[in-house]
Amino acid sequence: MRGIAVRRNISLKKYGTFRIGGRASFFVSVKTEEELLLALEFAGKNSLKIFILGRGSNVLFADEGFAGLVIKIDLRGLRFFEGPNKVLAEVQAGEDWDNFVKKTVDKNYWGLENLSYIPGTVGAAPIQNIGSYGVEVGDLIKEVHAINIKNLKKKIFSKKKCRFSYRHSFFKTAAGADFVITDIVFSLKKTEKANLSYRDLEDFFAGKDRASVKALDVRKALKIIRGAKFPDLKKFGTAGSFFRNPVVSVKKFKILKSKYPDLPEFYEAKGCKLSLAFILDRVCGLRGYKLKNAGLYKNQPLVFVNFGGAEARDILNLGKKVRKKVFEKTGVEIFAEVTFVG
Ligand SMILES: Cc1cc2nc3c(=O)[nH]c(=O)nc-3n(C[C@H](O)[C@H](O)[C@H](O)COP(=O)(O)OP(=O)(O)OC[C@H]3O[C@@H](n4cnc5c(N)ncnc54)[C@H](O)[C@@H]3O)c2cc1C
Repeated sequence: MRGIAVRRNISLKKYGTFRIGGRASFFVSVKTEEELLLALEFAGKNSLKIFILGRGSNVLFADEGFAGLVIKIDLRGLRFFEGPNKVLAEVQAGEDWDNFVKKTVDKNYWGLENLSYIPGTVGAAPIQNIGSYGVEVGDLIKEVHAINIKNLKKKIFSKKKCRFSYRHSFFKTAAGADFVITDIVFSLKKTEKANLSYRDLEDFFAGKDRASVKALDVRKALKIIRGAKFPDLKKFGTAGSFFRNPVVSVKKFKILKSKYPDLPEFYEAKGCKLSLAFILDRVCGLRGYKLKNAGLYKNQPLVFVNFGGAEARDILNLGKKVRKKVFEKTGVEIFAEVTFVG
C-alpha cells in the first residue's frame, strides 16, 4: 500500500480563489480513493478536524488558518457510456468542472452547457447544487458516490437522496458533512433544445432561430456574458457570489415589488427568489462599494472582490455591512453562499 505525503504548516492563500487565509496545520493532496482513506485514517488517529478542499473557489479561509487536516481532492478520471438517446458520464471528484463541461459540449452532448465556465471541481458541484443561467447541476445528476468520514464506508446517493434545492443539497446539512464525494454519474442527452429561458441568454440569441442554437453556441455565448460579469481570476481574488439570492414569501415579494417596480421576479416552489444583485445595486446603492481592499465588483455587486492584500476579516466586515444595509432597506435577511473555513 502506498503512503501519503502529509505536509505541515501550509499557507492556504494559494488554495483559494479569494487568495486569502492563514496556514493549515496539516495538508495532503489525494489522487486515489486509497489515499483518501489513508488521509481520513491519519486524521482519525491524530484526532484532527478535517476540511475537504476542491479548487477553493467557494471558500474563505480564516486569517488564523485551519487547525486540522486539509484534504485536497485530486482524484481524476472520466468515462462516457453512450446509449441510443442518453449518455452517462462517470467522473472523478477532482476533475476540473469546466474541462468536463467542455468535453461534453465538444461531443455534442446536451445538459451541462448552461453551467459553462463555473470554476471548481466536479466533486464540489453537488454540494451547493451549482447553478447558472436557468440550470442546476442536480437536474443532470444520476448518482453521487461518497465515502463516510466516520466509518470509511462507501455509499451511493440517488438523485432523490441528494435532496437538491436552490444552492443546497443533503451534503450541506450536518449529516451530509460526514461524506466526501469521490465520483459522480451524470445523465446527459444526445438531442435537446437549448435552454435560453434566462434573460441574458434570451437577449443574446434574440432574433436568431432558437431551434438551430447548439450546446456549443450556448457555451460560446456564456464566455462573453460571464466574461462581462465576473472578475478575471488571474487579476483579482474572489469566490464569486458572496451571498445567496434570498427566497421570500410571495406576499413579501409583492410588498417589495410595489416599492421597486423593476425588481425581477423568479417564482419558486417555496416562494419568490429575489435578485440580490438588483437590491445591492438599485435599492442599496452598493455597486462598486469598497471597504479597505475588499469590495463589491462593479459589474456584478453580488461578487465580492479582494483587490489585493485584503484579509478574511475585511471580507467578513464587508459582508456584515452589506447584510445590515439590505435588512434596513428591505427587511430581508441574507445568508452567505461562500463557506468560511476556520
Ligand atoms: C468567478 C466565480 C464564479 C462563480 N460562478 C458560480 C456560478 O455561476 N454558479 C455557482 O453555483 N457557483 C459559482 N461559483 C462558486 C464555485 O465555483 C462553486 O461553488 C464550485 O462548485 C466550487 O468548487 P470547488 O472545487 O472550488 O469547491 P471548494 O471551494 O474547494 O469547496 C466548496 C465546498 O464544497 C466542499 N467540497 C469540495 N469538494 C468536495 C468533495 N469532493 N466532497 C465533499 N465536499 C467537498 C468543501 O468542503 C466546501 O464546503 C463561482 C465562483 C467564482 C470564483
